[in-house]
Amino acid sequence: MTRIGVLALQGDFIEHMHVLESMGVDACEVRVPTQLDGLHGLIIPGGESTTMAKLMDAYGFREALRSALARGMALWGTCAGMIMIARDLEDPYPEPLGLIDIAVSRNWFGRQIDSFESDLDFKGIGGEPFPGVFIRAPVVTSCGPEVKVLATVEQGPAVAVRNGRVLATAFHPELTDDTRVHHYFLDMAEEAAPDDSGASTGQPAGDGKGGQ
Ligand code: GLN
Repeated sequence: MTRIGVLALQGDFIEHMHVLESMGVDACEVRVPTQLDGLHGLIIPGGESTTMAKLMDAYGFREALRSALARGMALWGTCAGMIMIARDLEDPYPEPLGLIDIAVSRNWFGRQIDSFESDLDFKGIGGEPFPGVFIRAPVVTSCGPEVKVLATVEQGPAVAVRNGRVLATAFHPELTDDTRVHHYFLDMAEEAAPDDSGASTGQPAGDGKGGQ
């Protein structure tokens, strides 16, 4: 079974956990880097990116995440999580992890309006527009050549992007009843699933509980 972790250092990790549990996904809260072992995907939630960066550095997540991606784990950053995984920030803080080839500007809507909802045409999820919930949200200001834009706010900047097995969204799908973006990420994690025999990592995958 595909196992998804939610980084639980700071921010709205509980809301992601609730969505994953409602979908019947094998989900766990991640507080230390060893808990990345055997995960097929990790969600970095929204919150406050400078605080989150300090905690991630204090616990040693910077290198651990790089290794987890190298062995095939999928990664999704929402809002502050998107800020954390960017290559570059337009802002002085925090120092992002550089896990997806995008530049991001924090609090981009801040001066006009702090929080709002906007219907998004999100490529790849089908059906009705997706209800985008934006809370002091960032946007993507530039993308590398490999990055696919999945959604923009009206004709404006990108707010959902994907590069291979890394997804970034500026808004909060976990605060809606619509699970389509969580399903989209689950599909990415299933595609990227490391060999469950552990052959690709040289160490046992999973949590030792023998999940199917
Ligand atoms: N504005 C926050 C930051 O810059 C992100 C807000 C959020 O995650 N909802 O870290």
